[in-house]
Amino acid sequence: MLAPNERPQPIYAIEARGLRKTYRAQGKAPAKEALKGIDLAIPRGSFFGLLGPNGAGKSTFINILGGLVVKSGGTASIWGYDIDSDPRNARGAIGIVPQELNMDPFFTPEESMEIQAGFYGVPKGERRTQEILEAVGLWDKRDAYARTLSGGMKRRLLVAKAMVHAPPVLVLDEPTAGVDVELRRQLWDYVRRLHAQGVTIVLTTHYLEEAQELCDTIAIINHGEVIACEPTAQLIGRLDQKTLVVRPNEALSAAPAGFEDLHATLQRDGALAITYSTREHSVEELLDRVRRAGVSIRDLSIQEPDLEDVFVQLTAG
Ligand code: ADP
Ligand code: MG
Repeated sequence: MLAPNERPQPIYAIEARGLRKTYRAQGKAPAKEALKGIDLAIPRGSFFGLLGPNGAGKSTFINILGGLVVKSGGTASIWGYDIDSDPRNARGAIGIVPQELNMDPFFTPEESMEIQAGFYGVPKGERRTQEILEAVGLWDKRDAYARTLSGGMKRRLLVAKAMVHAPPVLVLDEPTAGVDVELRRQLWDYVRRLHAQGVTIVLTTHYLEEAQELCDTIAIINHGEVIACEPTAQLIGRLDQKTLVVRPNEALSAAPAGFEDLHATLQRDGALAITYSTREHSVEELLDRVRRAGVSIRDLSIQEPDLEDVFVQLTAG
């Protein structure tokens, strides 16, 4: 493994071309084509979100990179190192926080870190066990057995273990499942600090808000295919739909007539929600129509689209 300062600087932290995976049939379970030819180029230095519903193929993609799953076709490289022809350097360039909380219950965090460092061949004098455990808020738990740690602490220990060899790429596979809000914030503080230091971050999640908040670029994967990959703002901007919510002075009992060409619904609280294309309609026009329908307006707001909307639109059909 090369030390970080000796590593050449590639354009892409991760590059996958035509990556395929078919899990073999097992018993009654039929064969499953989990990845159908993934092309993804994740730029060095990005905070990249791989977003998709359960079963989309996110973990399969990550586990191929980590050497845990054998691909069925295509190529992948990490930090410019091909996972087939240069597995040692490829493995050394990536730290993966697995989705499953699998850890040996009989080791303490400090022991786990030392074992992991040994596994990666990090010389004793270059180990940063204390620094990393402090960074994830586990230094005071360094002597506790892993089985006594909370779910959040275990998750942070997995992040710490993934960083022992100072990889330039850190991948987190659904890291916030079962992690409470406070610990989630701590986790993100640490990950953001790593990103600020130059570590490329890849995060898989099915939480749209999480990806939207953290990631500068988002790829959406569904049924083993990448259906979108662009800067977060651009992805959201693709939707020109907004929703005008009008609160009438008197709650409506039904959506008023005159909005048949739009998507207008009555909310449970009696407000009228009108979803419209900003290219086709102006707020001025819509408000005129609301007044003409005999609705007197007490209050109004305009909702911007979020990733949920983008996702629904892209995965529909
Ligand atoms: P995600 O991480 O996006 O939820 P996965 O990569 O775990 O998706 O799974 C993708 C598809 O492959 C799913 O249909 C899943 O059931 C299937 N799958 C995952 N792992 C295996 C396995 N070891 N054997 C058979 N099928 C699998
Ligand atoms: Mg998964």
